[in-house]
Amino acid sequence: MKRVDFSWPQGLSGALTTSWDDGTEFDRILVSILNRYGIKGTFNLNSGKFGLTKEECGWNNFIRADEVKTLFAGHEVAVHTVSHPWLERQSSDMILSEIIEDRRSLEALLGYPVRGMSLPFGSQDARVGGILKSAGILYVRPTVRNADKFALPGDFMNWQVSCHHKNDIMLLWKEFVDYRHNSDKLFYLWGHSYEFNNDGNWELIEEFCQVAGSTPDIWIATNMEIYEYVTAWRNLQCSVDVSCIRNTSAFTVWFRYNDKLFSVEPGQIVNI
Ligand SMILES: [Zn+2]
Repeated sequence: MKRVDFSWPQGLSGALTTSWDDGTEFDRILVSILNRYGIKGTFNLNSGKFGLTKEECGWNNFIRADEVKTLFAGHEVAVHTVSHPWLERQSSDMILSEIIEDRRSLEALLGYPVRGMSLPFGSQDARVGGILKSAGILYVRPTVRNADKFALPGDFMNWQVSCHHKNDIMLLWKEFVDYRHNSDKLFYLWGHSYEFNNDGNWELIEEFCQVAGSTPDIWIATNMEIYEYVTAWRNLQCSVDVSCIRNTSAFTVWFRYNDKLFSVEPGQIVNI
């Protein structure tokens, strides 16, 4: 039997994805920084808070519904529930509505299916995963740190991060770049744009984006792009002796065999 190994697209050595919660007005500054250095973000939004002002909610100003499509163009928008409740304190029906209605509002603004999610407060109970699945959610980010911080999740419904931006992200990025143990290494950064404002440290994320964006050999992708590529890879169909490999997905999939890089186009079979 032949042994085939995972590869990121084009044989790149690693991938970077970022995820930002709550949709406050500071997302505008963050997006402009990400765009400057070619970093992609997934923005988890509460559609029930669009347009709220600091005076109205006693916290922060929120982005407006009419800017969602243009502001986040080139990035991904994902679900963060309508109103940001603690899900375990809601009835099951309420949880379903919080997800479905957030999807409906975001999809109406964006024109694409919105099927990723981060959990409000990062918390859930035993009911939540099943409800999210039945609401069409494909991946979920809690906030627990992964034991192996550069690993892909076994289960995308419990997709753990590499770090929050308050961790030492420049040091962790260097560790990631030097990390040689697996071909599917992923750096997953999450946080909140308003924290850079609160802490007065926008230069931290600017420096990170500048360094990460100019690191060669890294695939920079949204959460959904990572999910779709990895899922396509995991769904490769193989003959029993692994000599022919079929890609049934809509994405070109890359793999290594005997240290050589191969790709399989959508719907095609490759013989090795
Ligand atoms: Zn949140």
